[in-house]
Amino acid sequence: MGITLRAYGKVNLGLDVLRRLENGYHEVKMIMQTVDLYDLLTFEKLDGAGVEIHSSQPDLPVGEDNIIYKACGLMMSEYGLTGGVKVTLEKNIPVAAGMAGGSTDAAAALTAMNSLYDLGLSQKELLELGVKIGADVPYCVMQGTALSEGIGEQLTALAPMPECTMVIAKPPVGVSTKWVYQNLKASELSDHPDIDGMVDALKAGDLRGVTDRMANVLETVTIPAHREIAQIKDIMLENGAMNSLMSGSGPTVFGIYDDADAAEQTAEKLKASGLANQVYVTLPYNGKR
Ligand code: ATP
Repeated sequence: MGITLRAYGKVNLGLDVLRRLENGYHEVKMIMQTVDLYDLLTFEKLDGAGVEIHSSQPDLPVGEDNIIYKACGLMMSEYGLTGGVKVTLEKNIPVAAGMAGGSTDAAAALTAMNSLYDLGLSQKELLELGVKIGADVPYCVMQGTALSEGIGEQLTALAPMPECTMVIAKPPVGVSTKWVYQNLKASELSDHPDIDGMVDALKAGDLRGVTDRMANVLETVTIPAHREIAQIKDIMLENGAMNSLMSGSGPTVFGIYDDADAAEQTAEKLKASGLANQVYVTLPYNGKR
Protein backbone atom coordinates (compact mmCIF):
# COMPACT_ATOMS: atom_id res chain seq x y z
CA MET A 1 0.00 0.00 0.00
CA GLY A 2 1.41 3.38 -1.00
CA ILE A 3 0.65 7.00 -0.27
CA THR A 4 0.26 9.65 -2.98
CA LEU A 5 0.74 13.29 -2.01
CA ARG A 6 0.62 16.59 -3.85
CA ALA A 7 3.66 18.75 -3.16
CA TYR A 8 2.66 22.33 -3.93
CA GLY A 9 4.98 25.09 -5.13
CA LYS A 10 5.09 28.63 -3.74
CA VAL A 11 5.65 32.19 -4.80
CA ASN A 12 6.95 35.06 -2.67
CA LEU A 13 4.46 37.92 -2.61
CA GLY A 14 7.15 39.94 -0.85
CA LEU A 15 10.81 39.16 -0.14
CA ASP A 16 13.11 41.30 1.97
CA VAL A 17 16.63 40.54 3.16
CA LEU A 18 17.47 42.30 6.42
CA ARG A 19 21.14 41.38 6.76
CA ARG A 20 23.85 38.87 6.10
CA LEU A 21 24.60 36.69 9.13
CA GLU A 22 28.08 35.66 10.29
CA ASN A 23 27.44 32.07 9.18
CA GLY A 24 26.78 33.17 5.60
CA TYR A 25 23.00 32.77 5.84
CA HIS A 26 20.75 35.80 5.43
CA GLU A 27 18.05 37.07 7.73
CA VAL A 28 14.90 37.32 5.60
CA LYS A 29 11.37 38.64 5.92
CA MET A 30 9.14 37.10 3.29
CA ILE A 31 5.49 36.53 2.53
CA MET A 32 4.97 33.08 1.09
CA GLN A 33 1.94 31.89 -0.84
CA THR A 34 1.27 28.30 -1.91
CA VAL A 35 0.05 27.99 -5.51
CA ASP A 36 -2.09 25.30 -7.11
CA LEU A 37 0.80 23.87 -9.11
CA TYR A 38 2.19 20.66 -7.68
CA ASP A 39 4.45 17.65 -8.05
CA LEU A 40 2.82 14.26 -7.44
CA LEU A 41 4.76 11.87 -5.24
CA THR A 42 3.94 8.25 -4.47
CA PHE A 43 5.68 6.55 -1.55
CA GLU A 44 5.74 2.77 -1.09
CA LYS A 45 7.41 0.79 1.68
CA LEU A 46 10.32 -1.46 0.71
CA ASP A 47 11.41 -4.40 2.86
CA GLY A 48 15.11 -3.79 2.28
CA ALA A 49 16.81 -0.61 3.47
CA GLY A 50 17.40 2.32 1.12
CA VAL A 51 15.66 5.02 -0.89
CA GLU A 52 14.75 4.26 -4.50
CA ILE A 53 13.68 7.29 -6.58
CA HIS A 54 11.98 7.17 -9.98
CA SER A 55 11.65 10.63 -11.54
CA SER A 56 9.57 11.74 -14.53
CA GLN A 57 12.25 14.36 -15.22
CA PRO A 58 15.46 12.71 -16.42
CA ASP A 59 17.68 15.71 -15.51
CA LEU A 60 17.05 15.37 -11.79
CA PRO A 61 19.43 13.31 -9.67
CA VAL A 62 17.87 10.14 -8.24
CA GLY A 63 20.57 9.34 -5.69
CA GLU A 64 21.60 11.11 -2.50
CA ASP A 65 21.71 14.47 -4.29
CA ASN A 66 17.93 14.41 -4.59
CA ILE A 67 16.42 16.29 -1.67
CA ILE A 68 13.74 13.57 -1.37
CA TYR A 69 16.54 11.11 -0.64
CA LYS A 70 17.86 13.43 2.11
CA ALA A 71 14.41 13.78 3.69
CA CYS A 72 13.69 10.04 3.70
CA GLY A 73 17.23 9.30 4.89
CA LEU A 74 16.85 11.75 7.78
CA MET A 75 13.63 10.04 8.91
CA MET A 76 15.34 6.63 8.71
CA SER A 77 18.34 7.66 10.79
CA GLU A 78 16.38 9.75 13.35
CA TYR A 79 13.85 6.98 14.01
CA GLY A 80 16.00 3.89 13.42
CA LEU A 81 13.84 2.63 10.55
CA THR A 82 15.12 -0.60 9.03
CA GLY A 83 12.81 -0.71 6.01
CA GLY A 84 13.19 1.40 2.88
CA VAL A 85 11.03 3.44 0.55
CA LYS A 86 10.34 3.64 -3.17
CA VAL A 87 9.40 7.13 -4.36
CA THR A 88 7.83 7.94 -7.72
CA LEU A 89 8.07 11.62 -8.61
CA GLU A 90 5.98 13.32 -11.28
CA LYS A 91 7.73 16.71 -11.58
CA ASN A 92 5.55 19.64 -12.66
CA ILE A 93 7.00 22.55 -10.67
CA PRO A 94 9.75 24.34 -12.61
CA VAL A 95 13.23 23.32 -11.35
CA ALA A 96 15.81 25.83 -10.06
CA ALA A 97 13.12 28.43 -10.48
CA GLY A 98 12.43 30.11 -7.11
CA MET A 99 9.27 28.08 -6.48
CA ALA A 100 10.65 25.79 -3.74
CA GLY A 101 10.20 22.75 -5.98
CA GLY A 102 12.81 20.73 -4.13
CA SER A 103 11.83 21.91 -0.64
CA THR A 104 8.20 20.97 -1.21
CA ASP A 105 9.15 17.46 -2.35
CA ALA A 106 11.21 17.13 0.84
CA ALA A 107 8.24 18.30 2.94
CA ALA A 108 6.02 15.72 1.24
CA ALA A 109 8.63 13.04 1.97
CA LEU A 110 8.67 13.89 5.69
CA THR A 111 4.86 13.80 5.81
CA ALA A 112 4.71 10.51 3.88
CA MET A 113 7.37 8.76 5.99
CA ASN A 114 5.49 9.84 9.13
CA SER A 115 2.35 8.04 7.92
CA LEU A 116 4.02 5.11 6.15
CA TYR A 117 5.99 4.17 9.25
CA ASP A 118 3.32 5.21 11.80
CA LEU A 119 5.72 7.58 13.56
CA GLY A 120 2.95 9.74 15.01
CA LEU A 121 4.97 12.97 14.69
CA SER A 122 3.18 16.30 15.18
CA GLN A 123 3.38 19.11 12.62
CA LYS A 124 5.73 20.93 15.02
CA GLU A 125 8.10 17.96 15.02
CA LEU A 126 7.96 17.78 11.21
CA LEU A 127 8.79 21.50 11.01
CA GLU A 128 11.83 20.95 13.25
CA LEU A 129 13.03 18.07 11.09
CA GLY A 130 12.40 20.15 7.96
CA VAL A 131 14.82 22.93 8.85
CA LYS A 132 17.64 20.34 9.03
CA ILE A 133 17.11 19.75 5.30
CA GLY A 134 16.58 23.31 4.08
CA ALA A 135 15.39 26.74 5.20
CA ASP A 136 12.19 26.63 3.08
CA VAL A 137 11.20 23.06 4.03
CA PRO A 138 9.30 23.99 7.24
CA TYR A 139 7.15 26.44 5.26
CA CYS A 140 6.43 23.72 2.70
CA VAL A 141 5.25 21.43 5.52
CA MET A 142 2.95 24.20 6.75
CA GLN A 143 1.75 25.62 3.38
CA GLY A 144 -0.78 28.43 2.79
CA THR A 145 -0.12 32.14 3.32
CA ALA A 146 2.68 32.76 5.81
CA LEU A 147 5.20 35.27 7.09
CA SER A 148 8.65 33.72 7.08
CA GLU A 149 11.44 35.23 9.19
CA GLY A 150 14.86 34.31 10.58
CA ILE A 151 16.52 32.20 7.88
CA GLY A 152 13.02 31.14 6.80
CA GLU A 153 12.23 28.83 9.68
CA GLN A 154 10.24 31.28 11.88
CA LEU A 155 6.74 30.98 10.50
CA THR A 156 3.51 32.84 11.24
CA ALA A 157 0.29 31.84 9.47
CA LEU A 158 -1.41 34.82 7.79
CA ALA A 159 -4.87 35.56 6.44
CA PRO A 160 -5.19 33.87 3.02
CA MET A 161 -4.46 35.67 -0.24
CA PRO A 162 -7.72 37.25 -1.53
CA GLU A 163 -9.28 35.54 -4.55
CA CYS A 164 -7.33 36.17 -7.76
CA THR A 165 -5.81 34.41 -10.79
CA MET A 166 -2.06 34.00 -11.24
CA VAL A 167 0.09 33.60 -14.31
CA ILE A 168 3.43 31.88 -13.72
CA ALA A 169 6.15 32.03 -16.37
CA LYS A 170 9.66 30.62 -16.24
CA PRO A 171 12.31 31.64 -18.77
CA PRO A 172 14.46 28.73 -20.03
CA VAL A 173 17.33 29.36 -17.58
CA GLY A 174 18.04 27.88 -14.15
CA VAL A 175 19.17 30.15 -11.34
CA SER A 176 21.13 28.95 -8.33
CA THR A 177 19.73 30.33 -5.07
CA LYS A 178 23.23 30.20 -3.58
CA TRP A 179 24.68 32.33 -6.39
CA VAL A 180 21.98 34.98 -5.97
CA TYR A 181 22.52 35.32 -2.22
CA GLN A 182 26.31 35.37 -2.68
CA ASN A 183 25.94 38.30 -5.08
CA LEU A 184 23.40 40.24 -3.04
CA LYS A 185 24.76 43.39 -1.40
CA ALA A 186 22.41 43.19 1.59
CA SER A 187 23.95 46.16 3.40
CA GLU A 188 23.54 48.42 0.35
CA LEU A 189 19.82 47.84 -0.29
CA SER A 190 18.07 51.18 -0.22
CA ASP A 191 14.49 50.04 -1.00
CA HIS A 192 12.88 47.58 1.38
CA PRO A 193 9.47 46.03 0.69
CA ASP A 194 6.61 47.00 3.01
CA ILE A 195 6.08 43.51 4.42
CA ASP A 196 4.17 44.73 7.51
CA GLY A 197 1.80 46.69 5.24
CA MET A 198 1.24 43.58 3.16
CA VAL A 199 0.38 41.56 6.29
CA ASP A 200 -2.24 44.21 7.14
CA ALA A 201 -3.62 44.20 3.58
CA LEU A 202 -4.01 40.40 3.73
CA LYS A 203 -5.84 40.74 7.05
CA ALA A 204 -8.19 43.28 5.46
CA GLY A 205 -8.74 41.03 2.40
CA ASP A 206 -7.49 43.94 0.27
CA LEU A 207 -6.08 42.46 -2.96
CA ARG A 208 -4.98 45.86 -4.33
CA GLY A 209 -3.24 46.58 -1.00
CA VAL A 210 -1.30 43.31 -1.43
CA THR A 211 -0.37 43.81 -5.10
CA ASP A 212 0.69 47.44 -4.57
CA ARG A 213 3.29 46.17 -2.06
CA MET A 214 4.74 43.29 -4.12
CA ALA A 215 8.54 43.65 -4.11
CA ASN A 216 11.55 41.33 -4.04
CA VAL A 217 15.07 42.57 -3.24
CA LEU A 218 16.63 39.56 -5.03
CA GLU A 219 15.52 41.08 -8.34
CA THR A 220 18.54 43.43 -7.94
CA VAL A 221 20.82 40.43 -8.53
CA THR A 222 18.89 38.14 -10.88
CA ILE A 223 17.35 40.65 -13.34
CA PRO A 224 20.66 42.22 -14.47
CA ALA A 225 21.87 38.68 -15.28
CA HIS A 226 18.64 37.61 -17.03
CA ARG A 227 16.92 40.54 -18.78
CA GLU A 228 14.04 38.33 -19.96
CA ILE A 229 12.67 38.48 -16.40
CA ALA A 230 12.03 42.23 -16.81
CA GLN A 231 10.52 41.63 -20.27
CA ILE A 232 8.09 39.02 -18.89
CA LYS A 233 7.12 41.37 -16.05
CA ASP A 234 6.37 44.11 -18.60
CA ILE A 235 4.24 41.81 -20.77
CA MET A 236 2.17 40.88 -17.71
CA LEU A 237 1.71 44.55 -16.70
CA GLU A 238 0.78 45.57 -20.26
CA ASN A 239 -1.86 42.82 -20.36
CA GLY A 240 -3.91 43.48 -17.26
CA ALA A 241 -1.82 42.22 -14.34
CA MET A 242 -2.41 44.18 -11.12
CA ASN A 243 1.30 43.62 -10.53
CA SER A 244 4.08 41.18 -11.43
CA LEU A 245 7.19 40.03 -9.60
CA MET A 246 10.05 37.57 -9.66
CA SER A 247 9.55 34.72 -7.16
CA GLY A 248 12.33 33.84 -4.70
CA SER A 249 15.77 33.93 -6.33
CA GLY A 250 14.11 33.57 -9.75
CA PRO A 251 13.92 33.33 -12.64
CA THR A 252 10.18 32.51 -12.40
CA VAL A 253 7.90 35.54 -12.73
CA PHE A 254 4.29 35.65 -11.55
CA GLY A 255 1.49 38.10 -12.27
CA ILE A 256 -1.65 38.66 -10.20
CA TYR A 257 -4.95 39.25 -12.02
CA ASP A 258 -8.46 40.11 -10.90
CA ASP A 259 -9.64 39.17 -14.41
CA ALA A 260 -9.22 35.46 -15.26
CA ASP A 261 -9.67 36.08 -19.03
CA ALA A 262 -6.83 38.62 -19.04
CA ALA A 263 -4.67 36.03 -17.26
CA GLU A 264 -5.44 33.39 -19.93
CA GLN A 265 -4.68 35.86 -22.73
CA THR A 266 -1.40 36.90 -21.14
CA ALA A 267 -0.37 33.26 -20.83
CA GLU A 268 -0.96 32.77 -24.58
CA LYS A 269 1.09 35.89 -25.38
CA LEU A 270 3.93 34.71 -23.17
CA LYS A 271 3.96 31.29 -24.82
CA ALA A 272 4.08 32.94 -28.26
CA SER A 273 6.84 35.37 -27.17
CA GLY A 274 9.41 32.61 -26.68
CA LEU A 275 10.58 34.35 -23.49
CA ALA A 276 9.23 31.60 -21.24
CA ASN A 277 9.19 27.84 -21.83
CA GLN A 278 6.97 26.98 -18.84
CA VAL A 279 3.78 29.03 -18.52
CA TYR A 280 0.85 28.25 -16.21
CA VAL A 281 -2.42 29.88 -15.23
CA THR A 282 -3.12 28.97 -11.62
CA LEU A 283 -4.66 30.07 -8.31
CA PRO A 284 -3.41 30.68 -4.80
CA TYR A 285 -3.87 27.49 -2.77
CA ASN A 286 -4.89 27.54 0.89
CA GLY A 287 -6.30 24.02 1.32
CA LYS A 288 -4.90 20.68 2.36
CA ARG A 289 -2.65 18.28 0.46
P1 ATP B 1 13.94 27.50 -3.86
O1 ATP B 1 12.72 28.30 -4.27
O2 ATP B 1 13.74 26.74 -2.57
O3 ATP B 1 15.20 28.27 -3.93
P2 ATP B 1 14.47 26.44 -6.41
O4 ATP B 1 13.22 26.46 -7.23
O5 ATP B 1 15.38 27.60 -6.60
O6 ATP B 1 14.06 26.32 -4.90
P3 ATP B 1 14.81 23.64 -6.79
O7 ATP B 1 13.83 23.45 -7.89
O8 ATP B 1 14.41 23.20 -5.45
O9 ATP B 1 15.28 25.17 -6.71
O10 ATP B 1 16.15 22.90 -7.27
C1 ATP B 1 17.43 23.35 -7.03
C2 ATP B 1 18.42 22.22 -7.39
O11 ATP B 1 18.18 21.10 -6.54
C3 ATP B 1 18.29 21.73 -8.82
O12 ATP B 1 19.48 22.04 -9.48
C4 ATP B 1 18.08 20.22 -8.72
O13 ATP B 1 18.95 19.47 -9.53
C5 ATP B 1 18.29 19.87 -7.27
N1 ATP B 1 17.23 18.93 -6.77
C6 ATP B 1 17.43 17.89 -5.97
N2 ATP B 1 16.29 17.26 -5.69
C7 ATP B 1 15.30 17.92 -6.33
C8 ATP B 1 13.90 17.74 -6.41
N3 ATP B 1 13.27 16.74 -5.80
N4 ATP B 1 13.20 18.63 -7.13
C9 ATP B 1 13.85 19.66 -7.74
N5 ATP B 1 15.16 19.85 -7.71
C10 ATP B 1 15.91 19.00 -7.01
